[in-house]
Amino acid sequence: MIRFEHVSVHYDSEATARAGEAPPPALREVDLEIPEGELCLLVGPSGVGKSTLLGTVSGLVPHFTGGTLHGRVTVAGRDTRTHKPREMADLVGTVGQDPLAHFVTDTVEDELAYGMESLGLPPATMRRRVEETLDLLGLNELRERPITTLSGGQQQRVAIGSVLTPHPRVLVLDEPTSALDPAAAEEVLAVLQRLVHDLGTTVLMAEHRLERVVHYADQVLLLPEPGARALLGDPAEQMGV
Ligand code: ADP
Ligand code: ADP
Repeated sequence: MIRFEHVSVHYDSEATARAGEAPPPALREVDLEIPEGELCLLVGPSGVGKSTLLGTVSGLVPHFTGGTLHGRVTVAGRDTRTHKPREMADLVGTVGQDPLAHFVTDTVEDELAYGMESLGLPPATMRRRVEETLDLLGLNELRERPITTLSGGQQQRVAIGSVLTPHPRVLVLDEPTSALDPAAAEEVLAVLQRLVHDLGTTVLMAEHRLERVVHYADQVLLLPEPGARALLGDPAEQMGV
């Protein structure tokens, strides 16, 4: 579903340009393949390139955050460099660390509907998808609530719901539980697991607290040190759990 072929990313910073040095790559020669319907966990210390790797799937790199991409990233055969993130909305949904940064409307149901606005769906389909997503994420009783009055875990579920209504086949999440207490993190992880099992969604998630999420993963992708080659494998084997 997701394929990386010799993917490297370089950012050109002004400081390194002034010093006349080539900056080290944020990602170096990554080759990997994530099958459909798996939850793949991306782990590694801060600064190792996790957000950059996720960005190449969602199209943030190179379309919005800059960076020069070498190699090829495809999602369901679609090249993320030649397709703008807007053209990938039906294929890839992206959720960041801070749900509040994500929201554009006031209430839960408006937020779920908003994600579909550019898709040109009939209004009846949009209404049905909002209902279906409220049920799926257990948000029915909160539908009319202003999002700012919700708990962190509830807000993160709304953020996930808002990218689910276009029915993406891939969900990309950058440390979605990092601002949450353990109970709220479990709430969010349980939702992700349900998406993988019930809908066959492919989930790629970055996380630095491995012990919190490793039991939910089908595969763990390790980015061990800056610019090092990625390792893809079975979580139990790699972690000794
Ligand atoms: P992680 O998510 O693992 O913390 P990042 O992908 O954010 O890692 O960063 C990898 C490297 O790329 C870091 O050295 C970071 O400073 C650099 N970097 C990330 N984004 C940018 C950017 N937009 N411009 C310049 N450098 C960046
Ligand atoms: P519509 O366009 O009328 O919503 P679709 O054929 O696109 O109909 O989708 C309906 C089916 O999609 C249902 O069987 C439902 O279980 C499933 N579904 C619900 N949520 C999602 C999702 N987030 N991603 C993929 N499929 C989903």
